[in-house]
Amino acid sequence: MPKGDTISENALFATFGEYERAEMMPTALVRKMRSLPRRFRQARMIARALKSRRHPILAQIIPTRRCNLSCAYCNEYDKVSKPVPAAEMLRRIDRLAELGTGIITFSGGEPLLHPELDELIRRIRSHGCIATLITNGYLLTPERIRSLNRAGLDHLQISIDNVQPDDISKKSLKVLDKKLQWLAQHAEFDVSINSVIGAGVSHPEDALTITRRALELGFDTSVGAIHDHTGQLKPLPAADKAVYDQIQREREPGFWAFAYDNLFQKNLVSGRANEWHCGAGSRYLYICEDGLVHYCSQQRGYPAIPLEKYSATDLEREYSTKKPCAPYCTVSCVHRVAMIDLLREKPREALVRFFPPTTPGAAAQMPFGVKVLSSLFLPAAEGKSQNRAARLMAGAVKRALGVHSARQAR
Ligand code: SF4
Ligand code: SF4
Repeated sequence: MPKGDTISENALFATFGEYERAEMMPTALVRKMRSLPRRFRQARMIARALKSRRHPILAQIIPTRRCNLSCAYCNEYDKVSKPVPAAEMLRRIDRLAELGTGIITFSGGEPLLHPELDELIRRIRSHGCIATLITNGYLLTPERIRSLNRAGLDHLQISIDNVQPDDISKKSLKVLDKKLQWLAQHAEFDVSINSVIGAGVSHPEDALTITRRALELGFDTSVGAIHDHTGQLKPLPAADKAVYDQIQREREPGFWAFAYDNLFQKNLVSGRANEWHCGAGSRYLYICEDGLVHYCSQQRGYPAIPLEKYSATDLEREYSTKKPCAPYCTVSCVHRVAMIDLLREKPREALVRFFPPTTPGAAAQMPFGVKVLSSLFLPAAEGKSQNRAARLMAGAVKRALGVHSARQAR
């Protein structure tokens, strides 16, 4: 767009959307159809995680520390590292599968810089795990997207920091919009776009523009609250909070996003500590380029045990280890893993916290589907018994998801 053009960024991206909507429709439908087996595998992964706590739900693994960008706030990249050799990465993936890991996510650095990434994705899928990728999106082309389809990628996430690139970040909608259009046209995997709000973000309204564009292209969205370099939570300024609330209204979050907002995000944007148990090192693992297991990207160095030696004893110990950084933690993927464990350990309390009453003293506002599922799967409340039809239905669903046998429960 020529400098000085009066069209706003919003209008610009809306125009792209109108122009392409007709072409994208069949691809969006195909993506939806192809996602059905994936939904089943995801449901099975969650059911297994609800059944047992003795395996990691999610592991993030680094195929290269190198990145093609240099975001000013980032402490997770360098400019010199070589890709981890494929044979070593395959061993690590096999070990994660042996530990019973449900989802394996590539992160970095920029994982698309790894020359054998597709082979690594195939190996994850060969174990029946879910394969996901966090990328800055710069290296995506139609052919690269199609090769990720062929490899069996399940999910891709791009975090977009601003509408126009600036000195802090080049992960901007202006640069990445063409990549998003290619994803909408060619990706058979799920795509989610994360925007950010909070400390250091100079144009909070950008997050709304990014969310709208992602929704228009048929992608999932999330918004992360970021905080200052001291790690202290501060309430979002009023302008940021208004943008955040507007995003929440427009994105119509599903079950997990809605529950996440109630359980964690509302506190984060208000600057309040969260009360939760962090399962890092057990239910969530971060595997660095040297093959060591760490709690997460922000707590590297603990416990720093080689993955090949990481055992059931380590998983058990870290499940119960209290992490002093938990109250002010903003690592959302570990929060989400903890939600599954809360649901497993205290299902009724979890549902009330996920869907709190809108007025004090009223009943929890559970969606109809959640009420049905809880009547099927939760133990009967004290003094009541579950009826026979519900027991039979629950048994049939559990068998379909493959979570009924002791072998699979781990
Ligand atoms: S693209 Fe990601 S890994 Fe690379 S510098 Fe930016 S935040 Fe860090
Ligand atoms: S609480 Fe957050 S920062 Fe601390 S170890 Fe857990 S995930 Fe990492």
